[in-house]
Amino acid sequence: MLRQSLMTEPDERGYFGRFGGRFVPESLIPALDELTEAFYRLRNQQKFQEELADYNRHYGGRPSPLYFAKRLTEYAGGARIFLKREDLIHGGAHKFNNAMGQGLLTKYLGKKRIIAETGAGQHGTATAMIGALLGIETVIYMGEKDIERQQPNVQRMRLMGADVVPVKTGSRTLKDAVNEALRDWVRNVETTHYLIGSVVGPHPFPLMVRHFQSVIGQEVKHDFLEYFGELPDLVMACVGGGSNAAGSFHPFIEDTKVKLLGVEAGGKGDQANSRSITCGSQGILHGSMSYLLQNEEGQVKEAHSVSAGLDYPGVGPELAYWNETGRVDFTYAADKEALDAMRLLSRLEGIIPALESSHAIARAIDVAKTMDKDERIVVTLSGRGDKDLETIQGKMT
Ligand SMILES: *Cc1c(COP(=O)(O)O)cnc(C)c1O
Repeated sequence: MLRQSLMTEPDERGYFGRFGGRFVPESLIPALDELTEAFYRLRNQQKFQEELADYNRHYGGRPSPLYFAKRLTEYAGGARIFLKREDLIHGGAHKFNNAMGQGLLTKYLGKKRIIAETGAGQHGTATAMIGALLGIETVIYMGEKDIERQQPNVQRMRLMGADVVPVKTGSRTLKDAVNEALRDWVRNVETTHYLIGSVVGPHPFPLMVRHFQSVIGQEVKHDFLEYFGELPDLVMACVGGGSNAAGSFHPFIEDTKVKLLGVEAGGKGDQANSRSITCGSQGILHGSMSYLLQNEEGQVKEAHSVSAGLDYPGVGPELAYWNETGRVDFTYAADKEALDAMRLLSRLEGIIPALESSHAIARAIDVAKTMDKDERIVVTLSGRGDKDLETIQGKMT
């Protein structure tokens, strides 16, 4: 019943069912209204679409390949496994798609400055890249502790001309950087766009980020219809905030024969993990109603995962909605399983996946075993693993 009335767009208040909305200071509402209006207008405007498509192709390297992982398929011994190679996009991950789209939108809005928050530095790096490309002043807020832990990304951002501002408040990590970025936005909303990095935050961000990331699923669909004349049986992606998953899944939402499976980070397998959907509960985080990890008093718990990109205590509202309606299933993989999958894919295919993506690979191998040999699975390989070489030192056996 629910499936027939599944929402593929939020309502005018930005809700997907009971998830989404805007839980922000009053002073930001005009900026969010302006952004919503501009986004709805530009996403249908031919000039904007063509310019974005041009950057995606000639600067970003899109379309990314769809690769049949023959040796991985033989290893699993079941369904055929295909990889959607977002690791080959400029910057080495899907984060480009969103930064590019919002960066261009900033230009069309006539704003002179971009701000962003970053935890591990991946989103900050993608934003710095686009700031340089479009010649827009870029300020990245980053917790002091994260700056210490993520030096190579800090150097990349600075090299590309971004101003990396250390945040010294609270736990000096991602959530404090988000607060600082929000404060900046409230002060400078006339001239500044806040480039949020995943399908989270107040409306229209979850919708807008998913829109720019949907290029992933659209390309998969196009390639499948061209090569096989039919759609994949299953599409899988890892879930942090949920942007690569939302972008991979959304074009298939109404194709109910295509199963969709999101893979969260299970951490060490005990309470310390990042499973917002499979372990969390309803609440408000960073401006929208969704699922998050919280204690009985509603205090946000810190997430823990070997992969920095999945280390987020919340998840996008549209994914919470898909979970509740049963359209998308969610599962998880533990740190150790991700590390094993990273090594396996490296050895079998000569592709070093990001630790984030390795969570989806780990589960894909198990799921493939339970499926027929003529069935097909697509796993979104959200990024490359070069950034993780230091993290995995001594963790591989
Ligand atoms: C940031 C990141 C993720 C997690 O973010 P989502 O918004 O859930 O996609 C996953 N993979 C890589 C490579 C990342 O950099």
